[in-house]
Amino acid sequence: MPKLSERVGTFTDSVIRRMTRISNQYGAINLSQGFPDFDPPKVMMERLAQTAYEGPHQYSITYGAKDTREAIARKQGRNIGRQIDPETEIVVTCGGTEAMMSAMMTIVNPGDKVMVFSPFYENYGADAILSGAQPIYIPLVPPEYDFDIDLIEEGFRQGAKAIIICNPSNPCGKVFTREELTAIGNLCIKYDAFAVMDEVYEHMVYEPHVHTYMSSLPGMWEHTITCNSMSKTYSITGWRLGYVIASAEVIEGARKVHDFLTVGAPAPLQKAAVAGLELPDSYYENFRRMYTEKRDFFCHGLDQLGLKHNVPEGTYFVMVDISDFLELPQFKDMTDLEFCEWVIKNVGVAAVPGSSFFREDVNHLIRFHFAKSMETLEEVLGRLKKLADLLAK
Ligand code: GLN
Repeated sequence: MPKLSERVGTFTDSVIRRMTRISNQYGAINLSQGFPDFDPPKVMMERLAQTAYEGPHQYSITYGAKDTREAIARKQGRNIGRQIDPETEIVVTCGGTEAMMSAMMTIVNPGDKVMVFSPFYENYGADAILSGAQPIYIPLVPPEYDFDIDLIEEGFRQGAKAIIICNPSNPCGKVFTREELTAIGNLCIKYDAFAVMDEVYEHMVYEPHVHTYMSSLPGMWEHTITCNSMSKTYSITGWRLGYVIASAEVIEGARKVHDFLTVGAPAPLQKAAVAGLELPDSYYENFRRMYTEKRDFFCHGLDQLGLKHNVPEGTYFVMVDISDFLELPQFKDMTDLEFCEWVIKNVGVAAVPGSSFFREDVNHLIRFHFAKSMETLEEVLGRLKKLADLLAK
């Protein structure tokens, strides 16, 4: 057998996506990989059906169909408070995943340092390896998930080319404040570096928290590369539609990377997505209200079961503290991954082991998502009672 690249030996498959496979194998309710069990907006499904007959069925322009880019520019221009040029400042990608990868490939030379918060969304680890970046980890310290700005300045002093910020943050639900983003942004300007933003949860921000767009802060347009996705906002994770917004210079590079990675995002799905991008503001208000209800319902249910957890400020993720379980004889010396597998098999609910998000040695947190119908969440809480009862004994 000829040897494979050293690169593929340096990272594992995604634990998040692996948990989905294990969950399916045991017929569990899957609260591991975040995706909804409800439909996208009806207008999008109707547009998709119509597109099946009217087309397009062939390649779109590699960096995104014109009407899709224009619709993104209108929507995000409103949000960011800046006119975005769909001809030069956007590239449509295959999901937020490719958006992040293209951004990294565009700015990183092998050996360049890039700062990543820990906990982090696990893709960033692989993005760093594939692009040749050397990650510098900046702890987000629980329970508030605060960070030390001096560590970030130190990272830039060591020559970091960029900092990756997931805002709102997967998996810890942190919403970065304007002050925090301004402080980081000022360092990006001072050290002439990029902020690579992953803003896929921008519309899942719970009151009183508000989403601040890094690219909208003074002087930050040229220093920000915003990666985004339509998966979460329109409940279409399987459509694989994302985009990058940045200055024309960055986008010119990102378009080349994207062209040779995937040629383009699926043309019929881009067409149907326009119907979503054109939805009025009330859609996003209702969307936020819906997820606020789910968050409150799920967190309240966990409280009633006596399961310790954080209350996310944004995203659809909750971290549950399993320390008390790991004290019980049946779980002694188990890793969080083994614990999650036990819960899948014996309780019928899938979560993601927290260790896959942390640089530090963390074994006592597991991540659930609540992008499910109320009935599903109710069923999950009923099942989790079996788990909680183990502590009562
Ligand atoms: N962001 C989602 C999660 O963390 C998954 C995204 C994906 O699997 N591409 O669960």
